Amino acid sequence: MHALPLPIYETVFRELPDAVFLIDPETSNILDCNDAALTQVGLARHEIVQHSVLSLQRDVVGVEQWSSIAQVIRESKGYYFVGQHRHKSGAEVPVEVHTSCFMREGRELFLSIARDITQRVASERDLANREALLSYALTEASDGLWDWNLATNEVFFSPQLKRMLGYGPQEMPPQLQTWESNIHPDDAPWVQLVLREHVEGLRERYDAEYRLRNRNGHYLWVHDRGRVCERDADRKPSRLVGMVENITDRKNAELALQELAAHDMLTGLLNRRECERVLRQQIDLCRRLEICLGLCIFDLDRFKSVNDRFGHAVGDKVLHGVAQLAKSQIRSTDYLFRWGGEEFLMLCPGIGLHDLVILADQIRHKIEQLSWPELEHEGPITCSFGVAVCPDHGHTADALFMSADSAMYRAKANGRNRVECGAPVKPPSQVPYPRSEVPGRPMIY
Ligand code: GH3
Ligand code: MG
Ligand code: MG
Repeated sequence: MHALPLPIYETVFRELPDAVFLIDPETSNILDCNDAALTQVGLARHEIVQHSVLSLQRDVVGVEQWSSIAQVIRESKGYYFVGQHRHKSGAEVPVEVHTSCFMREGRELFLSIARDITQRVASERDLANREALLSYALTEASDGLWDWNLATNEVFFSPQLKRMLGYGPQEMPPQLQTWESNIHPDDAPWVQLVLREHVEGLRERYDAEYRLRNRNGHYLWVHDRGRVCERDADRKPSRLVGMVENITDRKNAELALQELAAHDMLTGLLNRRECERVLRQQIDLCRRLEICLGLCIFDLDRFKSVNDRFGHAVGDKVLHGVAQLAKSQIRSTDYLFRWGGEEFLMLCPGIGLHDLVILADQIRHKIEQLSWPELEHEGPITCSFGVAVCPDHGHTADALFMSADSAMYRAKANGRNRVECGAPVKPPSQVPYPRSEVPGRPMIY
């Protein structure tokens, strides 16, 4: 119970931003209210004063309910409830109502303060939605999430991230080390570099595609993206969050396409496009290492007649067989390409002319000795070879190729089934370069 209000409180009553109602406990009628109350329910003073407070409320339905509430208000120091006030427009206004009881000139009165909580309800609803979203992202969405505390190196791995890697919710210790130790060793150095560069502010975001080991020891391809989301008082990054997507299927399809794009379907050898790329790369590399680069072109002799007499399928079989034989004769560091129809190109880094001629002749001889039941009593399949060595026969990819190619045509002209060498050229005076193969480098076949 409160003392009588002083005149100053009259002003306070009028000016309060919350709706204030003075209520007769017996009848439930509103005796007076402030302007905020009129605004809250959109009514004029005469539409409220001397009307039952029940008319404002949606949840209080009858006089009986009012009597019991009035009794609780009388007995307790204050009565609090969250409900709805009905606005004149029909809209409902969520309110938080505090009602207290006091005596004035021997008369019992109720004072109700109704705060409009529309904003709060909306933000609570928003928060609840976000929580649902967050819980979905953590547990249901297909991408895994991580949250790294840079000060402690603790990392939160979301349940979905653990599931992606085949771990249970209680597994994967929440430490940076857990992630680091599962990156493929070939990818780890550059992935960590990209991450470090982002933390140091050199990259706007951390974004990497790499292989991550799962619980079975197999590697998944993942796309990992993250960003600094918190900084300490010195503006240094203190927290990073990110998302990991399993891209194994896409990556494998991409790799298969790359493989397909670089290889010839019939023989499985690298194709001409790949040859042009590798030849230029090897010329540069051998120049830098100051070692020779051997190039050999060979072409099947009178192959057209094989096709003409036995059909294209048999011709294909011969091409495949010749490719496999040549492949079996080269070192793991050498390359064999299908240059065109029935032409092959071999690149041998670190080989001088002498050894290259021996290798080419060895392959020539083995091809000649192959037996082809499909060709019945036809003579052997043979090839003509042209060899050239960088720098002796050419300093550039084009020059080296031309030298070996014209040597190959010379082999054709000189009777086929033989090896011919390119013509020597003068070395460019400014580039120091070995004239023959590097001494002490044994050739192993
Ligand atoms: P040469 O000794 O002068 O090289 O004579 P050749 O008959 O081998 O040369 P030519 O260029 O006249 O013919 C090459 C033949 O190779 C023609 C073509 O039908 C055949 N050929 C090219 N690519 C393929 C292929 O993928 N499969 C089959 N079966 N034949 C091919
Ligand atoms: Mg030919
Ligand atoms: Mg040809």
